[in-house]
Amino acid sequence: MSTETNLSGKNDEKETNTAIPSNFIETIIKEDKEKKSDFNVHTRFPPEPNGYLHIGHAKSICLNFGLALKYNGLCNLRFDDTNPSKEDTEYVDSIKEDIRWLGFSWDDRLFYASDYFNEMYDFAVRLIEKDKAFVCDLTAEQMREYRGTLTEPGKESPYRNRSVEENLKLFQEMKDGKFAEGAKVLRAKIDMASPNLNLRDPVLYRIMKTHHHRTGDNWVIYPMYDFAHPISDSLEEITYSVCTLEFEAHRPLYNWVIENLEIFPSRQYEFSRLNLTNTVMSKRYLRQFVEEGKVNGWDDPRMPTISGLRRRGVTPEAVRDFCDRIGVARSNSIVDFALLEHCIREDLSPKALRVMAVLRPLKVIIENYPKDKVEDLIAENNPENPDMGTRTIPFSREIYIEQEDFNENPPKKFFRLSPENEVRLKHAYVIKCEEVIKDEKTGEIIEVRCTYDPDSKSGTGPLNRKVKGVLHWVSKNHAVKAEARLYEHLLIESEEAETEDGDNGLINKLNPNSLEVLECYVEPSLQEASTEDRFQFIRNAYFALDPVDSSKDKLVFNRIVSLKSSWKPE
Ligand code: ATP
Ligand code: MG
Repeated sequence: MSTETNLSGKNDEKETNTAIPSNFIETIIKEDKEKKSDFNVHTRFPPEPNGYLHIGHAKSICLNFGLALKYNGLCNLRFDDTNPSKEDTEYVDSIKEDIRWLGFSWDDRLFYASDYFNEMYDFAVRLIEKDKAFVCDLTAEQMREYRGTLTEPGKESPYRNRSVEENLKLFQEMKDGKFAEGAKVLRAKIDMASPNLNLRDPVLYRIMKTHHHRTGDNWVIYPMYDFAHPISDSLEEITYSVCTLEFEAHRPLYNWVIENLEIFPSRQYEFSRLNLTNTVMSKRYLRQFVEEGKVNGWDDPRMPTISGLRRRGVTPEAVRDFCDRIGVARSNSIVDFALLEHCIREDLSPKALRVMAVLRPLKVIIENYPKDKVEDLIAENNPENPDMGTRTIPFSREIYIEQEDFNENPPKKFFRLSPENEVRLKHAYVIKCEEVIKDEKTGEIIEVRCTYDPDSKSGTGPLNRKVKGVLHWVSKNHAVKAEARLYEHLLIESEEAETEDGDNGLINKLNPNSLEVLECYVEPSLQEASTEDRFQFIRNAYFALDPVDSSKDKLVFNRIVSLKSSWKPE
């Protein structure tokens, strides 16, 4: 569990008071502002449109857009679309939708790295003219051999000393499509003996005869991330280019590009990426799950994607609160998934309507209740929030309770229904079990016969007597049939398990019980439910309608999170 977790919940003062930095990046901003009071905070969120966003991206979104909001700055949305082979407009659209849903706006600052392809090409030419870049004919394999290792310096490419004129001509020909893929690359001329492998004459451009989702077939050469990223940042005058820690060793190259091109001095800062227990965050694996049908799409409610969380019924407030509490630091850590669940519960508890639903029904007949009588009982919608009002629930002779709420041979302290024992039905009466009816062949309990105490109606008079157990129920003839989808962790272990058995490692770690589908009965008020509503099926869990599969004819409820918390502050 990350140590920077904010146990006291949202700290509003910290969030808005710029005098109190909430993290090391804010400390740097404070120092910059002390040196130069009009120093602008200009950040960007730079997703590659090669998959859907996940909760790790949410951390980066909250950080980048959050810094701009707090310091009266700007945050751009920039698609880092420099690798056409895996990118698609479907991903662009989903990314925009997810950021908006999280509650952030890029206003009119939507950019694409591909919009800068002309500038990038010109900058590459400028480096060649300064004798800082050269065209290299080594194959990928030879390049690896020449690269050296962490302990041994690399060897200079035999093409390193080509003249500026020759390099200019060859680079132009690369652009004009004269060479096959892999035949040539453009490399920076830095230092093959550098202890930092990223500085050993890194590749800046490669030949790729691939259609690009925005620039079509205009280009057959594409810039590498390490070249494109500082240029994009600089063109947009980004002052704080925030990325995850694995790019720390790339920072000297980022600075090299900016210094040698003499362009706007954007600066890179790294923070630790979010890791969650029982969760894989890498888009490569998430795509594999989708493509191999291990889940029902990117928005499957078991996925750690923002669209999956949304479909499951999690609210943007809960995700933002979570990102707030995990904090921003430079040390890698794994956050307990239970913390996310805790934030979801805290968010839903005051909002969710308390309703009755029976997931695994057992029929109960109240023998002394008149056959055709129906009573409308009054139920509060949320005891935490009286403003949410009340509703009526029909009560009648035949009801359903949960199978697990009845036990013929109860253990000690079983405060639910058992032979000869009394329980209260929530919002209704006290009932007593008189008889158990079983299937003659299987011995399975199919019905419980009870009597009720007519003087025990909830909330009425001095006879409102106390019994230990209170059960939820639905009236059999009024209940609405619905589908309940119960989710568990998608993975039985965490992401680091992947290294052990290669690419299939994670497929082997998929939890076979991550989805359970039940036919259940819900109280009739839920017939009017909308996808905006959040419910607590009392004594059970939080649920919301599935926005994709639910309809007026077939209600489908997703379990968002259970009621019980396994999360403990450390
Ligand atoms: P993945 O490894 O999941 O494919 P990525 O880093 O390649 O992710 P990008 O689209 O390049 O995905 O990410 C956009 C931004 O989101 C980057 O600035 C990246 O650092 C940040 N980001 C990605 N994953 C995480 C994470 N787990 N925690 C925090 N930030 C993240
Ligand atoms: Mg990336």
